[in-house]
Amino acid sequence: MAMLMKAKEAANQVYDAVRTKVKKLNQKGIQPHMATIWVGGDPASAYYAQAKQKIAEKLGVSFYLHSFQADVTEEEILQLITRLNHDPSVHGIMLELPLPKHLSTSTIEKAISPLKDVDGITPSNKLATVTGDAGLYPATPQACIKLLKHYGYTLEGRNVTLVGRGQTVGLPLFHMLQRENATVTVCHSRTPDIASHIGHAEIAFVAVGRPHMVTQDFVHSDLIVIDAGINEVAGGKIVGDVSAEVSSHVAAVSPVPGGVGTLTTAILFENLLKAIDLQSEELHGS
Ligand code: NAP
Repeated sequence: MAMLMKAKEAANQVYDAVRTKVKKLNQKGIQPHMATIWVGGDPASAYYAQAKQKIAEKLGVSFYLHSFQADVTEEEILQLITRLNHDPSVHGIMLELPLPKHLSTSTIEKAISPLKDVDGITPSNKLATVTGDAGLYPATPQACIKLLKHYGYTLEGRNVTLVGRGQTVGLPLFHMLQRENATVTVCHSRTPDIASHIGHAEIAFVAVGRPHMVTQDFVHSDLIVIDAGINEVAGGKIVGDVSAEVSSHVAAVSPVPGGVGTLTTAILFENLLKAIDLQSEELHGS
């Protein structure tokens, strides 16, 4: 049976560090504040926004959920973002996705100040993820790498197969893995025989959005698997992109739920504090 790479311990370490830093900021008169924008229509994203609110309370972080009806106009959301960008008491802005189809996700993402962009979705933060320059990197790819390292695995020189090249997870993760000096093969919907690419890998990251896409036929007994997938299946159950039976056929695998998603939430708060540092550097010209 594989080692199950649960994220709770790693997430708690992040939360402990966040709590300590929040207290220090409070002593300097700074109260960290995360603003979350949610547009009606997607119950799963409402659930995640509320979960973050509860965690924020425990961390001493102020949290405000800006909720809109599903028929909101793009202009109304852009006006809110402009206001939040200019409000010095707001340090982080988080956009809950997906948005209803009549809204341009790309236009709305681009409106967020890069210095308050806690999920690394603005163009300059996407570029920073590629170059390694200072910036706010997307939380889920960071969580994938942090979880692997938490269990003592290294990336330098390793053969890694990444399944998925999506904007949220796969693409930024590819760049981060390159910067970790891994040798990366990227598979996607046009890749024939993904099993052969995973077969040659020491580590596989899967971020596709298809329940149980990776089955036991794709894996081998020395493989380490990080599953970033979050899929809701019949009965409201959350499953990953990797089939549960895989755990009997690999060396280690991250669970869903309780894996990458758990650590992603913690990293959003870590990014909030990084955002405060970046805003302070901008203000003081360093
Ligand atoms: P996305 O933008 O839809 O990208 C999906 C990727 O998977 C694309 O590159 C697509 O290939 C590839 N793909 C689709 N079907 C495939 C198939 N049959 N075989 C091989 N590749 C296939 O997805 P995303 O937003 O990056 O999200 C990926 C997963 O991560 C989802 O399950 C999502 O829920 C999850 N997620 C988790 C967290 C977290 O906190 N853990 C956060 C965000 C997202 P093409 O490029 O060729 O279309």
